Amino acid sequence: MNPEFSICVYCGSRPGEQTSHTAAAQAVGAWIGRNRGQLVYGGGRTGLMGTVAEATRAAGGRVVGIIPKALVDRELANTLCDELHVVDTMHERKAMMGERADAFVALAGGIGTFEELFEIWTWRQLGYHDKPVGILNTGGYYDALLGFLGHSVREGFMSDWQMGLIRSGDEPSALLEALQEEARRHPGGDKLAEVL
Ligand code: AMP
Repeated sequence: MNPEFSICVYCGSRPGEQTSHTAAAQAVGAWIGRNRGQLVYGGGRTGLMGTVAEATRAAGGRVVGIIPKALVDRELANTLCDELHVVDTMHERKAMMGERADAFVALAGGIGTFEELFEIWTWRQLGYHDKPVGILNTGGYYDALLGFLGHSVREGFMSDWQMGLIRSGDEPSALLEALQEEARRHPGGDKLAEVL
């Protein structure tokens, strides 16, 4: 199968307290499967990561997991992946996730998710790639962060252009469709292999 759209999902290795986050991860996986897409993700089987991978598989989508060997050793790798890449370092993993995806979306998560989201957003503003980046704001989970980012723009530490490089929404299908559409308008490769 040649997937029509490859999306990298960053999300919690924990499920969180609200069942709405699990439902959102299931909806994302179902959308990927319905659209003959491919999930690129961190390769874990716990929390929302495991949920989105299972839901993608169940809906007929393809799952690519990319995991550093240190986490495999802790037996956290998802053996249900269609492709599971075990890489040496976290850095290698993030570069590969960036290369394999047409777009990126962050679901609810913790420090690992924040770091991945901010890194891929930074790489876009530097011109390392020009692939869409989104935040799925389920139940207003990211309201406080989005509010702070607006504060940073008003304080002159970020520009409207930088803010415009990410989009957010609370409805999985609508956000994923917008990211797919944006990816179609920005086709072409990236420079990640050259610059990282
Ligand atoms: P967190 O939001 O802190 O739970 O971290 C989740 C993000 O960091 C995911 O998108 C993964 O890429 C990475 N990550 C953290 N923990 C794991 C794990 N146990 N297995 C695989 N990836 C993980």
